[in-house]
Amino acid sequence: MKKISIAIDGPSAAGKSTIAKQLAKILGYTYIDTGAMYRCVAYYMIQKDIDLNDEVSIERYLNEVGIELLPDNTVLLNQQVVTDKIRSDEVSKGASKVGAYGAVRHHLVALQRKMAENGGVILDGRDIGSVVLPNAQLKIYQVASVETRAMRRYKENLERGIESDLEKIKADIEQRDYDDSHRAISPLVKAKDAVEIDTSEMTIDEVVETVIKLVNERLEENTCQEQ
Ligand code: C5P
Repeated sequence: MKKISIAIDGPSAAGKSTIAKQLAKILGYTYIDTGAMYRCVAYYMIQKDIDLNDEVSIERYLNEVGIELLPDNTVLLNQQVVTDKIRSDEVSKGASKVGAYGAVRHHLVALQRKMAENGGVILDGRDIGSVVLPNAQLKIYQVASVETRAMRRYKENLERGIESDLEKIKADIEQRDYDDSHRAISPLVKAKDAVEIDTSEMTIDEVVETVIKLVNERLEENTCQEQ
């Protein structure tokens, strides 16, 4: 069966990766977590004690950052497993910071396009439909209210045994929303041809079902165009 490319963009903690992983499983597609790549760059620089405001040094050491995304969603940084380590608050903020630098974006976008070149992929991020894969056959813009996103993150932390403060999570999400949508290069935007899905009042299954319907529509459209 023919495979398409799917772009899922949207603000932090909108549940993009949860949906993307489920879709990848159901469709037999490859999931590419582009946020993990920005996180790897930030994590590497933090480990190396490089000031994340120092754009010149970050650019200089960028080629030392070897990222691999395995099919079971394990993230390798220079052959070391960093799947959980890159999820800390410090790395989340750091990813947003390094993601504002042109050299970092240029480098990671090139890698992402290479990973996606054979189709049958689902990429989630902030600039997938607008910059990385402007020709993706299906573009989703996934949103949810700040309250919903903060509560989901809070519950996730509880499940992992991490104590957290709901108001602080909310403030951090608002700050990252602001930073991601106001940066000069590739800010978070809804691509013109993206379908917006507000998941605030939806279950995961409902969102997945909605996207699967859209995938089937796109597959049919593509088949018709080819005939
Ligand atoms: O999606 P995730 O929260 O893991 O992304 C971490 C950060 O990386 C985001 O807040 C954003 O600043 C940056 N990012 C980006 N472009 C992407 C994916 C992530 O700028 N395509």
